[in-house]
Amino acid sequence: MLVAHLALVFLVKLLFPSLSLFFLLVGASISSIDAILPILRLRSESYHCGSIFHSIWLPLAGASLLLVLDVSWSVSLLAGGLLHLLTDSIDMRGRPWLYPLSGKTYGIAIIPYNFKDYVANPICIAVEAASALLILAYVLMFGIDLPSLLWFFMVIPLFVAFALHQWKIPDDTQ
Ligand SMILES: [Zn+2]
Repeated sequence: MLVAHLALVFLVKLLFPSLSLFFLLVGASISSIDAILPILRLRSESYHCGSIFHSIWLPLAGASLLLVLDVSWSVSLLAGGLLHLLTDSIDMRGRPWLYPLSGKTYGIAIIPYNFKDYVANPICIAVEAASALLILAYVLMFGIDLPSLLWFFMVIPLFVAFALHQWKIPDDTQ
């Protein structure tokens, strides 16, 4: 999932207005860090979605640290992180929720993992387009705070770099 991760964060914010949109977004983005290292050729392609960044540990650690500052920030970060993992876990690969304690992946194989298969799937594309519209509608109706907006401006170039990288790599290394 691409934009859909972030759209779900906005839905959660609508359902639970007391949560922090910024920390929901940060939580939902933590796992994406392991997509950057293969782009920089610092790790193999399988590192993305197979590392500690796609485990529960970083959201738990981040939420524990934030608990000292603000309960709502802490809950938001944890919710964002878990939301990313849950929605990732509906693809063919599953995610190593307990890595490095266990390399076992968890999930229900519903949608494609391979990027090219994902963007060729009409349902996935419809979900992504609806997600982008949902975020746009939210921002137009309710506005967006500055930290969340800045976070978006930081994440969008990463999305583009990720998509270009995934498109270029040979199918058998994804
Ligand atoms: Zn992910």
